[in-house]
Amino acid sequence: MYVVYAVLAVLGAVLFFIGTGMVGNETVYDDQVPGINLAIVGVVLANAAGVLLLLAGRRSVTTRRVAVLGAVPVAQEKVATITAPASSAHLVGGEGLTHFHRADCAMAAGREWPELDRSAHERAGRTACGVCKP
Ligand SMILES: [Zn+2]
Repeated sequence: MYVVYAVLAVLGAVLFFIGTGMVGNETVYDDQVPGINLAIVGVVLANAAGVLLLLAGRRSVTTRRVAVLGAVPVAQEKVATITAPASSAHLVGGEGLTHFHRADCAMAAGREWPELDRSAHERAGRTACGVCKP
């Protein structure tokens, strides 16, 4: 496939130099037009070869990246569904948190926070969650 890009680039360069060579000795614009047009076609062909080579390189890099790193995983968002207000009497909270929650609070869903009594949470500086209002 690289032969196609090389042929296009070489053809473009040849047309460019032929076109500029045709213009070199002409003093009247109308006599320069065919050479200029030929040179422009050469530049377009050479640039097309460059673009095609760049796109082929991107495809190769992508193929190699997927082979080495695997496909980019599609992020799956976990959406917490609140079906009923939290009513659990068990209070959970963890180190570094500012609030404690009922164990079935949506804010505590999927967390592995320890269960403590209210006074232990308050001694740790945590306040009641505004969502589950324990
Ligand atoms: Zn809560």
